[in-house]
Amino acid sequence: MPIATINPATGETLATFEPLTPEEVDDRLARAAATFATYRKTSFAERAGWMRTLADLLDAEVDDLAPLLTTEMGKTLAAAAAEVHKCATGCRFYAEHAEQMLADEEADAEAVQATKAYATYQPLGVVLAVMPWNFPLWQVFRFLAPALMAGNVGVLKHASNVPQTALRIEDLVGRAGFPEGTFQTLLIESKQVETVLRDPRVVAATLTGSAPAGQSVASIAGDEIKPTVLELGGSDPFVVLPSADLERAAKVATTSRCQNNGQSCISAKRFIVHEAVADEFLDRFVAEMSALTVGDPTAAGTDVGPLATEHGRADVEELVADAVAKGAVIRCGGQRPDGPGWYYPPTVLSGITPDMRMYGEEVFGPVAQVHRVPSIDEAIELSNATEFGLGSNVWTEDEAESRQFIDGVAAGSVFVNGMVTSFPELPFGGVKHSGCGRELSAHGIRAFCNVKSVWIGP
Ligand code: NAP
Repeated sequence: MPIATINPATGETLATFEPLTPEEVDDRLARAAATFATYRKTSFAERAGWMRTLADLLDAEVDDLAPLLTTEMGKTLAAAAAEVHKCATGCRFYAEHAEQMLADEEADAEAVQATKAYATYQPLGVVLAVMPWNFPLWQVFRFLAPALMAGNVGVLKHASNVPQTALRIEDLVGRAGFPEGTFQTLLIESKQVETVLRDPRVVAATLTGSAPAGQSVASIAGDEIKPTVLELGGSDPFVVLPSADLERAAKVATTSRCQNNGQSCISAKRFIVHEAVADEFLDRFVAEMSALTVGDPTAAGTDVGPLATEHGRADVEELVADAVAKGAVIRCGGQRPDGPGWYYPPTVLSGITPDMRMYGEEVFGPVAQVHRVPSIDEAIELSNATEFGLGSNVWTEDEAESRQFIDGVAAGSVFVNGMVTSFPELPFGGVKHSGCGRELSAHGIRAFCNVKSVWIGP
């Protein structure tokens, strides 16, 4: 994929960038390693000061940053502005809590025959972040804020279609006052990732993206014995049981499926509805999905902008065509509009069967598949009949049912009567092919630390 800004609303190429040469990559890694040697000795208070300035810059520059996100990957301006402020919140959260999250942990000195024994959290070094375009700021900041607060330095390989956002992040970190080299953007292609990851100056990696990209990075990191955090794809179940508030469930289902123009890892993608309420839910859901305004992401009132890339839309169309050819019924949408831009309408399909590709594959666009089940047991079984295990939703007013779902679903999170989302306060991640390790919360900041045991003798 060329490194370029191509406006998804028009298909116009606005800027192209040459990938860094091996010598340029080497210079940046040398700078990162040199910076780490001194940056690791900075205090939490110093880092928190820079992190708070970074948060202030994000908030202050929202009117400039949000249109950049919209131009590079097509999300609506309102969604882009919300993402900018969410990054600022994440920075402030870790500025506030990092020191306490990484405080030494006293052990029972007597039990280990010491005068004092404890575990202490220390930074690892230069961490490589490979990031996707769908939340081009937030995905980076939820790594950057904890990693830098822990005393690590970062190098970023961002997705090839958001190069200007990638450069802007480095610029913001620099202007916030962090020492030069603390966070650098490497404009490189995915085939250059292996060299960076095998470089001895890079000690760990995190990747957010598809399962194949995760497999590739994890196998190289495994070969090098370097730790990784992987945040990969998802096909989240959204289970609706008979006691659910169907009106609210249908509205939230629509928001969840169509947020970010249908391109979120934690969007609800498979709607699994008890047969007692399936017809009513389907009617409400189709009405909500059909009522969304699709169009120019810069226009006020647009709910769903274009998909980010031309091949992304082609992938969605292929999955819908495959399902329809095998008997699925289109309840709404299903046809791309005429004209420029990579638009695809909110679409609902029923009559899904296991031979259809979308039964097992992630659909990265505003396409919902609705399944009918006779019981909660079968709802849980179908929820788990996937290679993924990222988020999950259940809608019920029955506490015993919600407990059964919480216990039974194989996923990194469960949201009861609400939409899956991420908060700095809660761990975020998945199981199975949705990834391993956790971001956010104390788990996220400890992911790139050496947990060093200290034993002091008598
Ligand atoms: P992708 O193709 O895997 O790309 C993600 C990043 O990995 C990009 O920077 C890409 O670079 C790079 N990359 C791709 N193949 C690589 C390889 N073999 N080696 C090293 N780097 C490689 O993912 P996408 O299609 O852009 O993003 C959508 C996917 O991300 C979906 O599956 C979505 O569910 C997932 N996602 C997961 C989370 C989560 O937190 N779990 C969050 C957001 C998105 P190039 O752009 O240069 O190819």
